[in-house]
Amino acid sequence: MDNSINTKCVQAGYTPGNGEPRQIPIVQSTTFKYDSSEEMGKLFDLEASGYFYTRLQNPTNDYVAAKIAALEGGTAAMLTSSGQAANFFALFNICQCGSHIVASSSIYGGTFNLISVTMAKMGIDVTFVSPDATDEELDAAFKENTRAVFGETIANPALTVLDIERFAAAAHRHNVPLVIDNTFATPINCRPIEWGADIVTHSTTKYMDGHGAAVGGAIVDSGNFDWMAHKELFPGLTEPDDSYHGITYAEKFGKEGAFITKCTAQMMRDLGCIQSPQNAFILNLGLESLHVRMPRHVENAQAVAEFLASNPAVASVSYPGLEGDKYHDRAVKYLNGCGGCGVVSFEVKGGREVAEKVMEKLKVFAIETHVADARSCCLNPATSTHRQMTDEQLEAAGIPAGLIRISCGLEDKADLIADLEQALA
Ligand SMILES: *Cc1c(COP(=O)(O)O)cnc(C)c1O
Repeated sequence: MDNSINTKCVQAGYTPGNGEPRQIPIVQSTTFKYDSSEEMGKLFDLEASGYFYTRLQNPTNDYVAAKIAALEGGTAAMLTSSGQAANFFALFNICQCGSHIVASSSIYGGTFNLISVTMAKMGIDVTFVSPDATDEELDAAFKENTRAVFGETIANPALTVLDIERFAAAAHRHNVPLVIDNTFATPINCRPIEWGADIVTHSTTKYMDGHGAAVGGAIVDSGNFDWMAHKELFPGLTEPDDSYHGITYAEKFGKEGAFITKCTAQMMRDLGCIQSPQNAFILNLGLESLHVRMPRHVENAQAVAEFLASNPAVASVSYPGLEGDKYHDRAVKYLNGCGGCGVVSFEVKGGREVAEKVMEKLKVFAIETHVADARSCCLNPATSTHRQMTDEQLEAAGIPAGLIRISCGLEDKADLIADLEQALA
C-alpha cells in the first residue's frame, strides 16, 4: 500500500524495528567498525552496500534522503551540505570539461553564478534560455555537446513558473536529462518527476527544514533516464570507472541506482560536501510538518499578494497564485492552482530608494538573506543576492532594481498585511 504524501512526510524513510528508537537516531560517528579488512574492502569495491566513512554515507542522512526520495517519487536520493552542492553535484555528475548545459535564465543567483562563472572555468559551457522559450527557441539552444537541461519549478526570486513538460520534452528530444530545482514548490506543491524531470534537486535550507536552522541540499533520481540508450553521451555513467576497478555504474546499478551511486562514490568521495548527520536530523524534523506548513505559507502569501495588488504605492506584484499573474496558467497546471510557496515579489513605485525605505519600516518582516522559513523576511535582490549581475542580466532574469522579495512565514496573515500597510504608508 502506498501512503499519501502527508503520511510520507511524517513516516517515510525510517521504520524502527522492535525496541528501536521511534525518532531517527543521529549516528554521530565519522567511521564504522568491521571484523575484517576483507569485509570492509567489499564496500570500497562497491560490491556490498554499507557504511565506512561519513564523508560518503551515514545512516542518519540515508533515512532522510530516503524520505525525500519517497516524497518526490524517485528511486534514490542523497543529501549534500547545501543546495549549491546539490546543483553542482547533479550537473557535474553528468557533465565534464567540454560539455554544454541549456539552462533557464530565470534561476537563483547562486546557481546562475555556479553555472556561468565557476563551471565555465571547468570548461563547461552554458546557453541560457527564457523560461518562456518556444519549442523552436529551445531546440536552437542545443549543441552537439549538450548534456543536461536545468531549470527551477518556481524561480527564486523572479517567481516564474517553468513549463516543466515542455523543457522535459526538449531535453528528451536531444537525448539528455532534465534537472529541476524544486526548492520553492517542494514536493507538496509540485513533483517534477511526474512532469518528465529526470533529476530533482533541493536547497533543503528552505521549506524542507523550514525553520532557518540548518543549511543543506538534496538530489533525487527519478530512475527514468536510460543512460545506456545514449551511451556515448554519458561516458561517466556508461564506461568503466578506473577509480573503482572498472565498474560501469549504469550497468551495475541500473537506471534506478546508477546516478546516485556514482554521485556518492565519486562526487562525495572526491569533493566532500556531505551534510552533517546532526543537520540531517534537524532537516527531518522540518520534513515531519512540511505538508502542514506549506498550505499555511501559501495561504499567507496569497492574502499578502492580494493586498499588495490593491495598494496604490505598489507598481506590480508577482505571485503565481494571483489570477492575473503571468504564470497563473502554469500554476493551475503544475502547482494545483495555488501560488506554490510563501514567496511574493513586488515592485514599489519610486524604485530602489523607496524599496529600501519600505524595508526599513517593516517590523514583522525582517531584512534577511533568506526565504522560506517560519519567520517572515524581506530582501532587495539587486543590492544583495543578485548584486553580481549586470542590469541587462537582471532584466533578463525578471528582477528590476526596485523589486522587494518577501517570504511570508507562518505568522497570522492579518499581522503580515498590517505590517506592509504601515510601511507602504
Ligand atoms: C537557496 C537556493 C539554492 C542554494 O541553496 P543553499 O542551501 O543556500 O546552498 C539553490 N536553489 C534555490 C532555488 C534556492 O532558493
